[in-house]
Amino acid sequence: MEKKGNLIVISGFSGAGKGTVVKKLVEKYGYSLSVSATTRAPREGEVDGKDYYFKSVSDFQNLIDYNGFIEWAMYVENYYGTPRKFVEEEMAKGNDVILEIEVQGAINIKSQYPDAILIFITAPDVATLKDRLAGRGTESEEVILKRLKRAKEESEDIGEYEYVVVNDDLDTCVDSVNAIIVRKKCLRENNIELIEELQKELSVY
Ligand code: 5GP
Repeated sequence: MEKKGNLIVISGFSGAGKGTVVKKLVEKYGYSLSVSATTRAPREGEVDGKDYYFKSVSDFQNLIDYNGFIEWAMYVENYYGTPRKFVEEEMAKGNDVILEIEVQGAINIKSQYPDAILIFITAPDVATLKDRLAGRGTESEEVILKRLKRAKEESEDIGEYEYVVVNDDLDTCVDSVNAIIVRKKCLRENNIELIEELQKELSVY
C-alpha cells in the first residue's frame, strides 16, 4: 500500500527559534527538510545548498517562470521560494516534508495541499523575541525593526494556522510539534486505506 508523505508547514516570528526547532525535528525524528531558494545574502556561516540555495534576482525569476517553485513570496525585500522537485519527490516516496516558510507561503501551500499541517512557532513573549533577534548579532538595528514590524503583521495571520506552539524550552517545543504530526497521521480519516486492507484480510475468517 503506497502512502504519500505529509507536508508540514512551520512558520513563526523571526527570532522565535524556529530554525533550531526544525533542525532538531530533522535530527530527532528524521523528517525531510526542504531547502528554500532566496535572493537574500548569506549570513555568516550559512552554506549554499544546505541553509538556502542563494540566487540572484534574475535566476530566481527564471525559476518562477519555469514553475520551479511550489510557492514563493517576498519577505523584507527579498524573494524566498520552495523548490518543487524535492518536495514532490519526497512526498511521493512517502516521506514527511517540513517547509520552514513565512505566512504568505503557508497560505499558498494550504490552498494547494489542503491536508498540509500548518504550525506556528512563537517565543513566549515579545521581550524574548527582541532578545533573540538582537542576540543573534547578525542583523542591523534597522533590519531588527523591520522584522518586528513584519512580526506584527504576521501575528494578524495566525488564524490561518491549525496549531500554535510556544518555543520556551526547545525539547518540549520539538516534541510538541512531533506530537501534532503523529496525531494527524493517526486520525482514522487518514487511515482509510489501511482499515479497508485490514477488513479485506479479515474477511476470510
Ligand atoms: P530568514 O531571512 O530569516 O532566513 O528568513 C526570513 C523568512 O522567510 C522566514 O520567516 C522564513 O521562514 C521565510 N522563508 C524561508 N524560506 C522560505 C520559502 O521558501 N518560502 C517562503 N514563503 N518563505 C520562506
